[in-house]
Amino acid sequence: MDQQEKKMKLAVNGGISFGAKLTAKQLAVIAEYMNDGDELELTTFQQLYIEVLENHAEKIKEKFNEVGLVCYPVGNFVKSLRTCNFCKGAEEEGMPVAIELNNRIAGKSVPVTLRPAYTGCPVGCGEPLVNDIGVMKVKNGYDLYIGGYAKGKNAKTGILLMEQLVPERLYEAVEQIISIYAENGKKREPLYKFIDRFGLENLKNQLAI
Ligand code: SF4
Repeated sequence: MDQQEKKMKLAVNGGISFGAKLTAKQLAVIAEYMNDGDELELTTFQQLYIEVLENHAEKIKEKFNEVGLVCYPVGNFVKSLRTCNFCKGAEEEGMPVAIELNNRIAGKSVPVTLRPAYTGCPVGCGEPLVNDIGVMKVKNGYDLYIGGYAKGKNAKTGILLMEQLVPERLYEAVEQIISIYAENGKKREPLYKFIDRFGLENLKNQLAI
């Protein structure tokens, strides 16, 4: 395959809103960039994977952005924030905080794909406890869990690391955790294994908890 035809995967979704939804216009624009026989992959993390020609990727991202689609890299990066449906309302359930957190962390390079999840109340529809980083809004604060894992026999719930954070402290703590992991994690070492090896107390010391 020559350079002109090299393909790459893009992860696409409709951004953070009331549930993982796409409009008819967004679907039509995605379809414009697919050929007969191409497939769209639905992932478990509220993203669609589409394969595009590498030398068209920037143009396609622009076209997608024009209709409110957001593109993320695929591979060893922080995924876009999985969220709940914010059924009790955007403000009450902290949607602006989820959007800001996603803007700050999605797409950062890490040792292996990192899945962050957010949920607007303790019902936990966004499943924050079984993801690498989980945020749960409880009353007026944000509780932060780390080291959850959903797959296989190693499945486990995350550790409650910090409670009742204000938004700025939440952003700062999550960004710090990701940067410590990115710097010290071994290649393909998931966050929960990194925490075991690095030490929870060591991590807490670095975060000044
Ligand atoms: S976690 Fe709470 S706010 Fe979010 S969809 Fe579930 S019940 Fe609604």
